[in-house]
Amino acid sequence: MSYDDRDGFIWMDGKLVPWRDAKVHLLTHALHYASSVFEGERCYNGKIFRGREHSERLIRSGKLLDMDIPLTVDQIEEAKYAMLRANGWTDAYVRAIAWRGAGEDMGVSARKNPVRFAVAGWEWGNYYGDAKFKGARLDISKWKRPSPETIPSEAKAAGLYMICTMSKHAAEAKGCSDAMMFDYRGYVAEATGANIFFVKDGEVHTPLPDCFLNGLTRQTVIGMLKDRGVNVIERHIMPEELESFEQCWLTGTAAEVTPVGQIGDYNFEVGALTRDIAEGYEKLVRE
Ligand code: PMP
Repeated sequence: MSYDDRDGFIWMDGKLVPWRDAKVHLLTHALHYASSVFEGERCYNGKIFRGREHSERLIRSGKLLDMDIPLTVDQIEEAKYAMLRANGWTDAYVRAIAWRGAGEDMGVSARKNPVRFAVAGWEWGNYYGDAKFKGARLDISKWKRPSPETIPSEAKAAGLYMICTMSKHAAEAKGCSDAMMFDYRGYVAEATGANIFFVKDGEVHTPLPDCFLNGLTRQTVIGMLKDRGVNVIERHIMPEELESFEQCWLTGTAAEVTPVGQIGDYNFEVGALTRDIAEGYEKLVRE
């Protein structure tokens, strides 16, 4: 079913509107210049996992784009739960978004255009289908995560996803479910919408998030590993090291913990630690 043609309600600019009426004008600044920041969250058993931190990140992303979101964390939280209640959902994916709307500016500058805010949601199962059990197949993207000097890479901003969409299209054309991206220096970075972890000799290695999103799921999983006494090494990872890693998984709100079976020509096993962390995460988010 098309995402613009569904029953239900969307929270938009301070009130609930019927799903099909949640529209914006063609001359919305964000549509032309990517002046938009968003969040992806999951509600489990009626509670949004790390919801307040997502709202804080949304506000921070806006600030990084020189865009003050006219809501407090409490107001954003209220909007998310109002949307969930209106749709009768206790388990759903939640998409909060803030953007520069239509206004007096239609050039690159957007100061005269209002910052708008909306929250939608939908029921989303496994982001990578049955990869959760078999291990996802990942392509290697030709696009590199950009330097923090060229774009505010800490923000969860629409503009950063342009190369992700292109990478994912190329991956899907090869029968893969996602793509792993290197960064501008050639280090292993992340997938198109999820962070990446590797296992070797009982230790876990994960790229230092110095030019991409330090995901909340990533932070949760690092905590889980430390609680289990597993050594976690955050560092720059070279492409030639991929061969030496035994296990690999992705983390993200949508991806949750998804095992990876293959990246390009490199193979990984869906091992005991991967399964333990994937199952542990599923329990933790429902506590
Ligand atoms: N990197 C990118 C590019 C993402 O889109 C996401 C999903 N928000 C992540 C990492 C993981 O972030 P989180 O765990 O906070 O969902």
